[in-house]
Amino acid sequence: MTWTCPTCARTFAREEQFHSHDTEDVDVHFAGRPERLRESFDKLIRSLPSDVQVEALTSVIVLSARRTFAYATVQAERLLLWLRQAYQRCSAGGTDLP
Ligand SMILES: [Zn+2]
Repeated sequence: MTWTCPTCARTFAREEQFHSHDTEDVDVHFAGRPERLRESFDKLIRSLPSDVQVEALTSVIVLSARRTFAYATVQAERLLLWLRQAYQRCSAGGTDLP
């Protein structure tokens, strides 16, 4: 069972879960950045299970599968990925980062 916020259309495991409504297009995060950063990000997303949601907010790109497990931020010359411990359990199931 999931809940969809009527304001921003993001979906969550719990109703009324605290979150940001400041959604953004993923492309905005990569605008003016080296193409290799977008290529790396796209490769990462393709390597993840199909139920992983990618939601871009104004400040970060959120990766979630029932729960948020990673945040990505795009800087001038690098792509930073902040992994939560939950991802390690997912990784143990056979999904590896590219
Ligand atoms: Zn919302």
